[in-house]
Amino acid sequence: MNQISQENIQVGEIANGLPLTIPVYRMMGNGSGPKVYIQANMHGAEVQGNAVIYQLLEQLKQLTLASDITLVPYANPIGCNQKSGEFTLGRFDPITGTNWNRMYHDHSALVSEFVDKHLHDSLDEIKQQFRALLVGQTQTLLDRPAHNINTGQRIALNLQRLAHEADIVLDLHTGPISAKHLYCPEYAKASASYFDIEHVLLIPDEFGGALDEASFCPWWSLQQAFAKRGRDLPVMVEAFTVELGSQERIDLAEAKLDAQSILSYLTHKEVLLNSPYQPANITRYGCMLKDYVAYYAPMGGMVEYTAHLGAHVKAGETIAHILRMERYLSEQPLQPVHIEQDAIAILHFASASVNQGTELYKFFTNYFELN
Ligand SMILES: [Zn+2]
Repeated sequence: MNQISQENIQVGEIANGLPLTIPVYRMMGNGSGPKVYIQANMHGAEVQGNAVIYQLLEQLKQLTLASDITLVPYANPIGCNQKSGEFTLGRFDPITGTNWNRMYHDHSALVSEFVDKHLHDSLDEIKQQFRALLVGQTQTLLDRPAHNINTGQRIALNLQRLAHEADIVLDLHTGPISAKHLYCPEYAKASASYFDIEHVLLIPDEFGGALDEASFCPWWSLQQAFAKRGRDLPVMVEAFTVELGSQERIDLAEAKLDAQSILSYLTHKEVLLNSPYQPANITRYGCMLKDYVAYYAPMGGMVEYTAHLGAHVKAGETIAHILRMERYLSEQPLQPVHIEQDAIAILHFASASVNQGTELYKFFTNYFELN
């Protein structure tokens, strides 16, 4: 059995002065494999990742590890406690309105000076030095006077400092009501085939404030900057946002399957020795981020969602009915809503009552088979 250690890191204080802490679990490998960082529940209602971390720990303690693995459930101690009635909010900081997963720091500005300094260094030296720079700069941001850092940034920077130590970063989220999908940087497309996830969004080298981007953008920029100077390097870090399904839901059997999917990917990356985990033989569909489109409610009303999530819908098909009972006597109270192009339905809004312009669905369009 592998040892699992726990450290609780402090990421802030709440109004009564009590500390906000996050549990960090660590397992040590023999040091030959890439380091792994996995976190869950940055968005309060997206709880299933905690169950996946539970199932991962249950499996990992019985496997032979080549790598050090850090696992962080309850990554946002404010988010999962942000309740309103029966429901968990926790997508946005309630005070500032900022999305909790848009507060990480972009270190890409460090790249150009680094390349000047390390143009002729060995690959190992570059990797080690650039990692030390990212970890060090993140710590420097945290070490600023406390009055310079807002609540969400302090949580994010603490997590980002842990994530920068790793070669592989997985941020476990869920959609509202959603099919499983994976946010995958374009350069890591080949790795997507090792997750048992049918829907893969391929994302460009653009920083929007999320943990996956904060983890891979500096390394991708580094690879591109070296290429411009005539030196061909691999992108040395892979980071993904794994969308596990729907929010407000713990399903331990499903979590075991999701853990197996992650273990299959980690086997491919040589994190595990003598691992039995293999990817499932499924068809995976890719979609470029620019073709991942929102479908907004064309009118206000009460929605019956009829497109099955993960279903391939055809242009002209009905995807929802909108019920408008205030006009039962004056006009057709049940309005069908159609999609204009072929698409895969990935997720829909969690509530049945919508305003005009509410994001009703998100669809893969111009999708293609990945493998
Ligand atoms: Zn999320």
